[in-house]
Amino acid sequence: MPISRRTFLTGAIATTFALTSTRHLLAQTAPRAMPRNAGIYRFKLGNFNLISISDGTLSAPAAIFAGNATPEELNRVLQQGFQGEQLTVDCNVLLVDTGRDKVLIDTGSGLLNAATAGKLIENLQQVQIKPSDITAVILTHAHGDHVGGLNGKSGLNFPNARYFIAKQEWDFWTATAVDLPNFGGPAEMKQQAIKIAQTQLGLIRDRVTKIEVNQEFLPGFTAIPAYGHTPGHVAIRIASGNAVMVHTADTVHTHTINLWNPSWQPIFDADREMAAATRQTVLAKIAGDRTLMFAYHFPYPGIGHLRSRDRGGFDWQPVNWQFES
Ligand SMILES: [Zn+2]
Repeated sequence: MPISRRTFLTGAIATTFALTSTRHLLAQTAPRAMPRNAGIYRFKLGNFNLISISDGTLSAPAAIFAGNATPEELNRVLQQGFQGEQLTVDCNVLLVDTGRDKVLIDTGSGLLNAATAGKLIENLQQVQIKPSDITAVILTHAHGDHVGGLNGKSGLNFPNARYFIAKQEWDFWTATAVDLPNFGGPAEMKQQAIKIAQTQLGLIRDRVTKIEVNQEFLPGFTAIPAYGHTPGHVAIRIASGNAVMVHTADTVHTHTINLWNPSWQPIFDADREMAAATRQTVLAKIAGDRTLMFAYHFPYPGIGHLRSRDRGGFDWQPVNWQFES
C-alpha cells in the first residue's frame, strides 16, 4: 500500500493541533463522545482466542490495484462491486492468544498514516491488552502499513515481544543495495517503500528471528511462501487442534477487483507476474480446501471463505458476525 508522507504528516499535525487547542474547552463543555463503530472482533480457532483489530483504513485509486486492466474492464468491475474510482481499504491486524503467547500478526501503519489508520494501540486498549503483554510479533512483509506500527513516539510499541519475519524478506530489505526493478509505481513511491522497510526493520535488528517457510516456527504457526508482492512476502497458516485458518496478508488486496480477477496486477507489487501467479495458487488452495481465511485488507473484520467461480476468480463469503466468541 503506497503511503504519502506529506498527506499523513499534514493529517497528523492537524489532528494534534486540534486536540491541543480544544482540550481545555472539551473538558468543560463537551457532552460524552458518541461511541465509534467496532474496532475489535473476537473469535475462536480451536483452543486459540483471536481478535481481529482494526488499524483503520487507507484510501487509494482503484486503478493502482489493476495496472494491466483497461479502464473499461476496471470500470465494469467497479460497477459490479458498487465501488467508485477511489477505494477504501481496511487494515485488519490479527491477535492470537494461544494461552502461551499473545501473538500479533503485523502492526498496522503506526504514525505513517495517522489520519485514518494507526489505530491498533488505541483499539488494543479496548480489550484491556497492553502493548507490553504482546509476546510475539509476526511480520508478513515490510511494507509501511504492516510494519509502521512497530514503534510509536517513545520507541518500540511491543517491548517484550520476539519478532518473526521470513528470512527471504529480511535479507532482501536489509541488503546493502535494494532495488525493485519491476515496481510499476512512481519512483518516489518506490524509494519511500524501501526507506520505510529499512528504517522499520532496523528497529528490531537485535530481536528478530528469521524464519524458514513451511516449518512451524511457533506452536500452531507456519509461514507459507506467497512471494511477489514483496520478495519474501508470506501468508501465515494458523492451526489449533483440527481448526485451521490462513492469514493471506497481501496475497490479495481487494475482495472485488483482485479476487474476481487474480491476474490483475497491483502496480506496487515487487514482481507483478510472480504475485499474480502466487495469488491464483494460494487462493485456489484455500478455496479448494474450504479453509477459513483472514484477509488483512478486506472489509473488517476480514474473516471468511473463498468460493471458486465458474468464470474464473473467486467470491468472498464473509463469516456471519458472532456476538460471542
Ligand atoms: Zn498492505
